Amino acid sequence: MKFGGTSVADLDCIRNVARHVKREVDAGHEVAVVVSAMAGTTNQLVAWCRAASALHDTREYDAVVAAGEQVTSGLLAIMLEGMGINARSWQGWQLPILTSNVHGSARILEINGAELIKRFKERNEVAVVCGFQGVHKETNRITTLGRGGSDTSAVAVAAAIHADRCDIYTDVDGVYTSDPRVVPRARRLDKIAFEEMLELASLGAKVLQVRSVELGMVHKVPIFVRSSFDRPEDVDPHRTPSGTLICDEEDIVEQQVVTGIAFSKDEAQISVRHVPDKPGIAAAIFGPLAEANINVDMIVQNVSADGATTDLTFTVPAADYQRSMEVLGKARKAIGYDHLDGSTDVAKVSVIGIGMRSHAGVAAEAFKALASRNINIRAITTSEIKFSVLIEAAYTELAVRTLHSLYDLDK
Ligand code: ASP
Ligand code: MG
Repeated sequence: MKFGGTSVADLDCIRNVARHVKREVDAGHEVAVVVSAMAGTTNQLVAWCRAASALHDTREYDAVVAAGEQVTSGLLAIMLEGMGINARSWQGWQLPILTSNVHGSARILEINGAELIKRFKERNEVAVVCGFQGVHKETNRITTLGRGGSDTSAVAVAAAIHADRCDIYTDVDGVYTSDPRVVPRARRLDKIAFEEMLELASLGAKVLQVRSVELGMVHKVPIFVRSSFDRPEDVDPHRTPSGTLICDEEDIVEQQVVTGIAFSKDEAQISVRHVPDKPGIAAAIFGPLAEANINVDMIVQNVSADGATTDLTFTVPAADYQRSMEVLGKARKAIGYDHLDGSTDVAKVSVIGIGMRSHAGVAAEAFKALASRNINIRAITTSEIKFSVLIEAAYTELAVRTLHSLYDLDK
């Protein structure tokens, strides 16, 4: 059972969480709990690090930001004990949760679940594990897993104790076909395949950290997204509650062609005009960007008409736009382009569904529907189970709603 920041925002919320845990224990389930920091706490800790020094040591950043989870795990253990449930808190270094040493965005390498299993079997003791944090094997320093990382802690702990399921209790009651704030007719999905959820999360849906979905897929841990705001006593622990199950695609009987529409406005478009159409140009453009650690996403290049020059357009995260322009400015001689232009007023809208593998023409329908709304497409990318279009940001909502109805996702 994993509880996010809004679910442990204050003592009343934590008491509510304790009642959810008690319900499951009383029903005879063996559970481990993973908690985030109280809502807003991690932001505050991050802000303090930045204010202390813009160029702080990431090892100390981790020492500071890991603190939020320590508080909530201890408080939840206290409350559980108060309700007559045996409980013990665990920090990342105590289990231990061993990670790589990339401070600020470490990856979990290994968790030994044996001690947790033993304690539950011997004395019904519920482990309350700090999400988000781990420890580096050699240096023994505390690490954190990147923002939103307690989802990943939860799935990793679930895998380590061979759990039947990893329940993510959060402030929404499941995964929706699109963002309900933009598409009021969005529906909650009963089930979604790991691959689809991976795309949804990577392409803008903010329900789960991407890495947690990857781990669930690799270790075959079904992930169940459900609401923590239901009254704990109203939930029947022996019945399937409402929420969304993220599982293997074989476990989904009625597979739709399209499962969801994601969008992201954190994109910027850059066009490199009149570059020589010859070998080595793409390398000259993307090499320096890679060195500057800038993630390039969509790339479009045309075959030149005259055999001499062409244009190359691509997208980067909006936050990296200025830096990208500077990097390319410096590399102008080496690349040999005429000029650069770009825009941060763009959005990427993506359509996701495993059914696309076996259905032709899914993207063509979208292009037609967008055209009928007069929405211009600047770039397109496709893969086996998704395609994305880059459009002017002002049209995002219209495009998302249009596609949502087009693929019969409206309720
Ligand atoms: N507390 C951490 C964060 O805010 C981890 C998490 O909540 O998942 O990013
Ligand atoms: Mg989260």
